[in-house]
Amino acid sequence: MKIARTIEELDACKSALGNGTLAYVPTMGALHEGHLSLVRLAKEKGDYVAVSIFVNPTQFAPHEDFDSYPRIENEDAKSLEAEGVDILFLPTEDIMYPDGKDSDIKAGSAAKGLETTFRPHFFDGVVNIVNRLFNAVKPDLAVFGEKDFQQLQVIKQMVEVLELPIDVIGAPIIRDKSGLALSSRNLYLSEDELVTSRKLNVVLREAARTSDTEAAEKALLDYGFDKIDYVAMRWNRVLGAAWLGETRLIDNVAVR
Ligand code: AMP
Repeated sequence: MKIARTIEELDACKSALGNGTLAYVPTMGALHEGHLSLVRLAKEKGDYVAVSIFVNPTQFAPHEDFDSYPRIENEDAKSLEAEGVDILFLPTEDIMYPDGKDSDIKAGSAAKGLETTFRPHFFDGVVNIVNRLFNAVKPDLAVFGEKDFQQLQVIKQMVEVLELPIDVIGAPIIRDKSGLALSSRNLYLSEDELVTSRKLNVVLREAARTSDTEAAEKALLDYGFDKIDYVAMRWNRVLGAAWLGETRLIDNVAVR
């Protein structure tokens, strides 16, 4: 696995690859089996795989967890090497935002509501960085998790509107044995919070069966969640975001 920290190094790594398609998985690191499942899908779909780790400052509001977001670069690099990744791109802020952090593009209509109601800055930050990363990596296809279902829709829309020649592929949510969707932010949870967190998917599945999102919000509070941002139906899914202490969890399930 070659490591690139600048655009020039990335270009050199790409030139050293033979002919074939490049599949790309953007991440913010603290990798778990969810991320690795994306890498495996990327390997299946492309001839070569590039992964980036960049904790993107523009998608965090000032009061959010940018500073405390888990950063375990060496461990992550080992996991990716073991998966047979070809290129690991590890840019810094100066590389991704040489012009400062102004948003150059805006997220489209898929960003309306849900996450945006509670994190208004979020999707503009996401499309801004993903577009810049796409420009740097120039992949043929890119894999994103359905765990962040609204994000997947926003990225698909961005690629369509900008007419980027990139196939965006959604990958299924990876869960632990209890059904809890894996997330880097699960590392923040205490033992007690972990127990409660495992109810999120149970409640969303019930809401997918009954379509009663109000009852789902009440059930989450009863189970011990501290605050519910939303439980809502869209794209034939039930999507939810809820807080345990300082930790915000999101998840979604398909309506059958
Ligand atoms: P992040 O590092 O949180 O920005 O996530 C990077 C990518 O991994 C995104 O496309 C996420 O949707 C995806 N991802 C995160 N957790 C999971 C999971 N449990 N299952 C599938 N994909 C995931």
